[in-house]
Amino acid sequence: MLGQMMQQPLLVSSLLVHAERHHGEREIVSRRVEGDLHRTTYRELAARSRRLANALTKLGVQRSERVATLAWNGYRHMELYFAVSGMGAVLHTLNPRLHPEQLLYIAEHAEDQALFFDLTFLPLVAAVAGRLQKVRHWVALCARAHLPADAAKIPGLLCYEDLIDAHHDRFDWPEFDENSASSLCYTSGTTGNPKGVLYSHRSTLLHTYAAALPDALNCSATDSILPVVPMFHVNAWGLPYVGCMTGAKLVFPGPALDGKSLYELFESEQVTLSAGVPTVWQGLLAYVQGNGLKFSSMRRTVIGGSACPPAMLRAFGEGLGVHVLHAWGMTETSPLGTTCAFKAAHAGLDKDGRYALMAKQGRAIFGVDMKVVDDAGQELPFGSEQQGELLVRGPWVIESYFKDVGGSPLRSDAAGRGWFPTGDVATIDADGYMHITDRSKDVIKSGGEWIGSIDLENIAMAHPAVAMAACIGVPHPKWDERPLLVVVKKPGAEVTRDELLASFGGKIAKWWLPDDVVFVDAIPLGATGKMQKNKLREQFRDYQLPSA
Ligand code: AMP
Repeated sequence: MLGQMMQQPLLVSSLLVHAERHHGEREIVSRRVEGDLHRTTYRELAARSRRLANALTKLGVQRSERVATLAWNGYRHMELYFAVSGMGAVLHTLNPRLHPEQLLYIAEHAEDQALFFDLTFLPLVAAVAGRLQKVRHWVALCARAHLPADAAKIPGLLCYEDLIDAHHDRFDWPEFDENSASSLCYTSGTTGNPKGVLYSHRSTLLHTYAAALPDALNCSATDSILPVVPMFHVNAWGLPYVGCMTGAKLVFPGPALDGKSLYELFESEQVTLSAGVPTVWQGLLAYVQGNGLKFSSMRRTVIGGSACPPAMLRAFGEGLGVHVLHAWGMTETSPLGTTCAFKAAHAGLDKDGRYALMAKQGRAIFGVDMKVVDDAGQELPFGSEQQGELLVRGPWVIESYFKDVGGSPLRSDAAGRGWFPTGDVATIDADGYMHITDRSKDVIKSGGEWIGSIDLENIAMAHPAVAMAACIGVPHPKWDERPLLVVVKKPGAEVTRDELLASFGGKIAKWWLPDDVVFVDAIPLGATGKMQKNKLREQFRDYQLPSA
């Protein structure tokens, strides 16, 4: 018989077991909702995760059932990452910035059985609790002493620290198929309701290996990593898993994401690497530059989620000695797809050449294959000037949405292999560096978070004086983009900007409210009668929003 290698499934729990055994003393530091700075170690985190797994078992949580979180970045959230997935249940990270109606839809659709939340979100939870019939357990992520009096509004509310304390720390992580689901994150599509992306243990582990590579996030045991990217958005780009795999110190900012709080944490914890969307870094840069400060340990930061402005690359690089790694990804790609790391051939580039390259989204990480196709679906060769739609495939790229919503999103090539159409419009240069030139999607991204333009249009269209409405994103210095509502009035009807905006009251999260309204005679329509929002975006590209 020919020899063979061990059949060991790739499971999320193995990351925690490794971290405890080989990096047990390494620290995990969290700024908490309670206001203090909390310190623990991988050893302690592993023990508490096992207690939590016992508690979840006692509560009756079964394999594959969804356990939801509404929480900031912190050690308790990380314990949930490992306990829930480790025992074979599915960690469902909810985005607290969504409107309560959307949260309700998502939690119902996911059939969440339990909801763990930070105290910040108690009012939100209290508002939706009565309408979430499937949730059997509500757990506040705190000690009993910190439970506020109005917590009693939620019947049967449990307290996280009591739950953990009531159980011992012996728990054997089960072995099961590595293709089982480990976590779930919803993305808001351009049409219809948000769709769930279900990650598997295998996809998570492979993504973790890839994310830690030198030309990806380049993480090692000597790093101190501060993920600003939320743990409720695509698993904080995989950094909690990368921490366990590499033994890096992890530093969690909790709810304090302003420039001053972040800077103080970078310094006190000697952070070497961070990651987040451009908007967050604007606040940090303003604080650091405004106070004439420098970073004593931070050398690299990963920026992605939306395009990193070239001025930001230079402000970090030239002004502060921090190298920015521009990265691209999606909820559907776990998320890492490309990073903009140099090749040996770029050693001779001058400064301008280097910065010009860094503004691209970068080249594919091994495991993700990508191509750009023209309107006829033909692949455009690397180096082609022509832009087209970006398609990707790989073991951590989605094959179908949770509960198969919308049918298969994949497109087959001539060989019958499925590719995921990203909705991004891009070019790929001769060296394989991808550059997003536009996005075909019409959703608006403000501060790294989607705003659903169709939802906004539907509300506007409900106004009796409105014939047609299109909502587009226009550039904003602080939020990258903010919504602008373009409206055609019904003949003879009258409505003012303020009257129209007032009609949004209570129907959407406040930050979704369009910054301004413009009235036009007509909105351009395409051949199939769809509004051509790309043309509107072009028309209003230099529009001055009142808040800008
Ligand atoms: P999400 O699934 O919410 O993470 O959004 C994914 C989308 O964000 C992508 O399809 C892109 O349109 C956009 N995106 C992510 N990273 C970048 C980037 N570095 N530059 C430009 N757009 C980006």
